[in-house]
Amino acid sequence: MSDVESRPDTYACRAVGADGPEFLLLPARTVWLGKTTQVARALPDRTVRMIGAWCFLDHYGPEDVSDSPGMRVWAHPHTGLQTVTWLLEGEIDHADSLGSRVRVRPGELHLMTAGRGIVHSELSPADKPPIMHGLQLWLALPDSARFTEPRFVSHPDLPMITGDGVSGIVLLGELGGLVSPAETHTPLLAVDLELSPGAAITLPARPEFEYGLFAVTGSAAVSGVRVDHDQLLYLGTGRPELVLHSESGGRVLLLGGEPFAEEIVMWWNFVGRDHDEVAGYRQEWLDRADRFPAVVDRSERVMEAPEMPSVRLRPRPRRSPR
Ligand code: MN
Repeated sequence: MSDVESRPDTYACRAVGADGPEFLLLPARTVWLGKTTQVARALPDRTVRMIGAWCFLDHYGPEDVSDSPGMRVWAHPHTGLQTVTWLLEGEIDHADSLGSRVRVRPGELHLMTAGRGIVHSELSPADKPPIMHGLQLWLALPDSARFTEPRFVSHPDLPMITGDGVSGIVLLGELGGLVSPAETHTPLLAVDLELSPGAAITLPARPEFEYGLFAVTGSAAVSGVRVDHDQLLYLGTGRPELVLHSESGGRVLLLGGEPFAEEIVMWWNFVGRDHDEVAGYRQEWLDRADRFPAVVDRSERVMEAPEMPSVRLRPRPRRSPR
């Protein structure tokens, strides 16, 4: 996945103190990914730019791609982040500059740690199934890990949650003693939950975490506050538990994490710490520098970086007044 807006906004985040529990309903905005695929982008939001280390959340589909090329995200670079690919339906071919060649399928978590730099492409295969539906998220890496060697790891076996009318998968982090094997660098959580009509569940929560609930399909509610399809309900910190229910049924993604303590500058597909660092990555991508090796070879189709904004990228609060 790539931020392909022609004039991507800059998101710079400054750590602030915990704000306590709150309910902020944030509708995702529609963004075109290439010419064919429309996504609902819930993070970064104008008001809430991060939830823990989660700095990017795209939901695409369900889209009938039987008469279209499907996903065409050509080779592009990343730095300073991890990408989390969680496909709900369909198939996508991931290829990267480490030599990984993976047919991504539903039920498997694919975690790409960009670290100091990686290049990847995400393309629908020629023999793709008719429906494409999935999520991609980014995690900002802390200073201790952001220059690490890049890696790509697939996790087909993840801990399952079962309850009355509820089934779920712990994608990253730990919930109720169930621990995902996925490597993380700050305390955080992601859980995919399917709620049958009328289902309710109370999940343990960590008061030091901030949480958000994104409705992928259908609707759900936290403490009676409803969140509909392609909306993110930001929940703040200071919660000992999360009381979920769904009247009509829904599939939701629960995100959590300790508020990210470092200032980041996020521009296009790069996470850095200031303007010059990000501008440097952009130049290295233009120059095809060693930081960004080829996925296939140097003649492959790539995504060109947009122009840098005319003003210097500068820090903004990770939370803004509404
Ligand atoms: Mn990407």
